Amino acid sequence: AAEKELELLNVSSPALAEEALEKIRGKMEYNLRPVLNATGVLLHTNLGRAPLAAAAVEAVKGVGASFSNLEISLHSGKRSSRYEHVEELLCRLTGAEAALVVNNNAAAVFLALNSFEAGKEVIVSRGELVEIGGSFRLPEVMASSGASLVEVGTTNKTYTGDYKKAIGEKTALLLKVHTSNFKVLGFASAVSASALVRLGREYGLPVMEDVGSGVLVDLSRYGLPYEPRVQDSVAAGVDVITFSGDKLLGGPQAGLIIGRKKYIDRIKSNQLTRALRVDKLTVTALEATLRLYLDEKKALREIPVLRMLTVPGEVLQRRAEALAAELRKKLVGEWEIDILHEKSRVGGGSLPLVSLSSSQISLGLKGVNAGELAQRLRKAKPPVIARVKRQRVLLDLRSLKEEDDRELLETIVRTFSSSGMRKNGGGS
Ligand SMILES: *Cc1c(COP(=O)(O)O)cnc(C)c1O
Repeated sequence: AAEKELELLNVSSPALAEEALEKIRGKMEYNLRPVLNATGVLLHTNLGRAPLAAAAVEAVKGVGASFSNLEISLHSGKRSSRYEHVEELLCRLTGAEAALVVNNNAAAVFLALNSFEAGKEVIVSRGELVEIGGSFRLPEVMASSGASLVEVGTTNKTYTGDYKKAIGEKTALLLKVHTSNFKVLGFASAVSASALVRLGREYGLPVMEDVGSGVLVDLSRYGLPYEPRVQDSVAAGVDVITFSGDKLLGGPQAGLIIGRKKYIDRIKSNQLTRALRVDKLTVTALEATLRLYLDEKKALREIPVLRMLTVPGEVLQRRAEALAAELRKKLVGEWEIDILHEKSRVGGGSLPLVSLSSSQISLGLKGVNAGELAQRLRKAKPPVIARVKRQRVLLDLRSLKEEDDRELLETIVRTFSSSGMRKNGGGS
């Protein structure tokens, strides 16, 4: 086998020169760069979650390259708050009284809990003590925020009475956490936000909810299951609500905290808010993204995550057929090119039960391991991230923007017509 490999090694001077050049080019490239996401997973934390809308990118370009009115009022010339650029928008879109933005939702939960008196008890259902990917574990976040956790109910069933029994002198808060990355099915029941709010009012206790993904549109209008919206929690009377900016909202990484002015003010004046504050690029991208939501149709058209989530299966099928036809024409060698229809997922700990119809291009090359093909695609320019299944490379159209189809095609053709590929694959 080793001899065979030696035979395949090309040590001619043009090949060596090409290899050296390749190494130098590699060193000159940015470490962090755009990739084509062909995994079919829309919100992939390792791939940077939501791509920004064009309007958000434009806004970032302008503010990033310049000075800005980040903390100055152009009206009065006096100092103002960076949060003001998005606070009114967030209130308008959700119905909340006040809002604040921090680094991510983990920071939002931590900060909000820390802002209620330290050491005081927070009551949570055992069915909601979640772990979200990337080591966000609710019990640990609570412990480090200084709150002490009081667990009530069981994994599958928690009733209002369970919370009620646990309320005591030291209780500071009732907490509800959206089980965004799993579902308890079957013999299960949880207390709704509105029931928890009723209980909170009865005892004079605030209610906080970590809604996770932060959906602002009614997804059931676009053929998806109904996912509670942020507005629903506000309408239910929840006092403090936290969610992510880069999941289903489709904006930059951020943790949004909205709710009653009294509590948001308390959070704003917490010393830790300064340590978790967002930079001007985040504020800019978030403002531009939120503005798109003022017109729901526009949001669905221009926010990449919403667009990918709602694009009909037939459109993906048509795109897959067109790409496959081109690949059959242009790839040299004994390729097997098919179209599959496996489901794709939302990912990023969102909508765990939702599987989206999708189309994949399945690629195989005789005599070459599929893992090797996937690796070559990963090293391409731009890198293409694909799945490998049953000795085939799968390119899922659901997580790719239609505008990128041409680039995807050209990248694949370029990658697999390099000399090495032809020799190992088509020729041998
Ligand atoms: C995703 C998620 C988090 C963590 O949010 P980040 O923005 O990734 O920090 C916290 N809670 C819930 C319920 C989530 O779904």
